[in-house]
Amino acid sequence: MKRREPITFAGAAAPRATARGGDARLDFDCVTVTYPGGPALSEVSLSVPHGGQVAVVGPNGAGKSTLFKALVGLLPLQSGRILIHGREPGDQHDPIAYVPQREEIDWRFPVTVADAVMMGRYGRLGWLRRPRAEDRTAVVSAIELMGLTDLAQRPIGDLSGGQQQRVFLARAIAQEPHVLLLDEPFTGVDAAVREQTLSVLDELRRKHVTVLVSTHDLDLAATRFDRVLLLNRRVIGYGRPQEVFTAERLVQAFGGQAMFIDGMVVIDQCCPGPGEEAPAADEGASSRPTG
Ligand code: ADP
Ligand code: MG
Repeated sequence: MKRREPITFAGAAAPRATARGGDARLDFDCVTVTYPGGPALSEVSLSVPHGGQVAVVGPNGAGKSTLFKALVGLLPLQSGRILIHGREPGDQHDPIAYVPQREEIDWRFPVTVADAVMMGRYGRLGWLRRPRAEDRTAVVSAIELMGLTDLAQRPIGDLSGGQQQRVFLARAIAQEPHVLLLDEPFTGVDAAVREQTLSVLDELRRKHVTVLVSTHDLDLAATRFDRVLLLNRRVIGYGRPQEVFTAERLVQAFGGQAMFIDGMVVIDQCCPGPGEEAPAADEGASSRPTG
């Protein structure tokens, strides 16, 4: 594998514990989220340790994006409870950085790269406070780190997909998060952006930032993450990749999209069923079953 250049930045070290939270971590306790069309998450329970890196894997419509939105308090829970460092979403000061799926961002929104990255500091600025020197410094260094200095004054809508992804990574870095959620960051980006994203994850690991990343890339999930969450509205498996990625569980999660070829499970994510959205790009993943 190609060696990655180390990336370093001044992220805040996450607290090990809070007054109300015991060991800092994310907890889902029997979480159900329902849209008018039916449940998207059903009785999801799991716990992510402080500084853990989890890949969230499942077919289209499995509830991966719903899980992230529930975590940042964008969706009401029908039942159950989510605790972040011991506090409910929206009731905590630990910054959570959330990078939505590309399709969910309005790229026509008239902001420059520098503005978009400064938005990462808004949670720290408070109501009507002007950016301080330290906010500007954080923004400039995040922009530099992601190689966007020459593009800083350009509108985000003018950039390529890879450049846009780097803007959102820069925003997340400027935020100095304790928890980072990346929704399909490896879909539709080139190898350079993929490597850059992985380097950011390496650095966040050193800083004990808790990270959840949704991906269709099973190999990446298996080789690069401490834990995987195999999701299809409910938890099919959660734990170390070699324990979770068994043939049985992959078939359970992906149904007819899972095939056996030469002792490997191949997940065909190219052609969604009726009513499902087509995945954006690099789909088609395989995994050698371990059970
Ligand atoms: P994934 O990210 O794994 O593809 P999502 O969380 O986007 O899955 O969606 C889970 C299910 O919830 C899908 O069946 C989807 O159609 C449905 N869904 C997602 N967002 C909405 C919404 N805003 N309104 C109604 N149904 C939704
Ligand atoms: Mg999604």
